[in-house]
Amino acid sequence: MIKIENIHKRFGQNEILKGVDLTIEKGEVVVIIGPSGSGKTTFLRCLNFLERAEEGSLQIGDTTADFKQATKKQILAIRKKTAMVFQQYALFFNRTALENVIEGLVIARSVPKKEATEKGKALLAKVGLAGKENHYPHELSGGQQQRVGIARALALNPEVILFDEPTSALDPELVGETLDVIKQVANEGSTLVIVTHEMQFAYEVADRVIFMENGVIVEEGTPQEVFDYTKEERTKNFLARTA
Ligand code: ATP
Repeated sequence: MIKIENIHKRFGQNEILKGVDLTIEKGEVVVIIGPSGSGKTTFLRCLNFLERAEEGSLQIGDTTADFKQATKKQILAIRKKTAMVFQQYALFFNRTALENVIEGLVIARSVPKKEATEKGKALLAKVGLAGKENHYPHELSGGQQQRVGIARALALNPEVILFDEPTSALDPELVGETLDVIKQVANEGSTLVIVTHEMQFAYEVADRVIFMENGVIVEEGTPQEVFDYTKEERTKNFLARTA
């Protein structure tokens, strides 16, 4: 279970997150939608301490951390339980697909190279990249690179995978294949938090949709509740703009 309480984050004078609370069950797929600048990415980045929130607390499994006072040890423990898939795949450009996937296992987790390689190959096959193990990122399409990023996240067996707009840097024709892989991962019971602008995908993949605006959660519920039986005026306006 993941529990976020009263998270506040500022950049200079701007309060970007204004006291967000969220509890996520194991195996739940939570999709965060909302206008540009509403704080979605910032929220995600605070969950693995890529950004440091000023107030609030976070619990992931048996690790708890106060955002303001977290020690290095706590931050490391939280990071071990999370993996992030970025908008821009953030692959090592001078390493092959397989090397990118197993890097974290070998270096951070001290898994023997042979075992890591087996696991890496299986994960690449799972995301539809069998046969591409020895390709370098520049030899792969954007969608394929993003799928390497997903395999890399899966390799670490995290308690939660955080997806930050995983398809927004992709050419339209490559979006579908990436979303399909995320759906597959979701169906296998991983806990996922996904920030996306793809409303149809949100509808299909989410157990729960969160609509965030101006640093607060305005509305949340099942996809049907949020998209078909929208309660809040602000959500209605947003959805009307994205339709
Ligand atoms: P989008 O959908 O466009 O990605 P978002 O909802 O994910 O938007 P954030 O990226 O979290 O929004 O940004 C929220 C606000 O915080 C924006 O106004 C942004 O300019 C500001 N912001 C984000 N990162 C920083 C930073 N490192 N320094 C200063 N301001 C920042």
